[in-house]
Amino acid sequence: MDKFKEKMDKMASEGFSDSEIGEKFLDEMGDFCICPDCPMFNQCAQEKYEGLYCMLGESTCNLEEDDCICPECEVAENLELKNDLFCIKGSEKELRGL
Ligand code: SF4
Ligand code: SF4
Repeated sequence: MDKFKEKMDKMASEGFSDSEIGEKFLDEMGDFCICPDCPMFNQCAQEKYEGLYCMLGESTCNLEEDDCICPECEVAENLELKNDLFCIKGSEKELRGL
């Protein structure tokens, strides 16, 4: 089992809801998200303090597809994420069908 699945299973077994899990990830990892450095991150996303799409799901801003820099991010590495382009495709959890 990879680290993402392990962590999600652990939190689910501890009774955390999806929104609580999102908040926990935001607290723990929000500062490590490099989305603001990505060519796709626009002014709308900046004004809404968006980011951590891998955990929180897709953007509400209209982001134009370009090269995703998620594979260079510590969060992706530490959690062994398998996907990218989370801001337009949805969260890792959704993309894995969990
Ligand atoms: S993997 Fe991508 S969306 Fe997730 S924290 Fe890193 S840069 Fe942000
Ligand atoms: S999820 Fe990937 S493509 Fe989207 S803003 Fe973050 S780094 Fe860029």
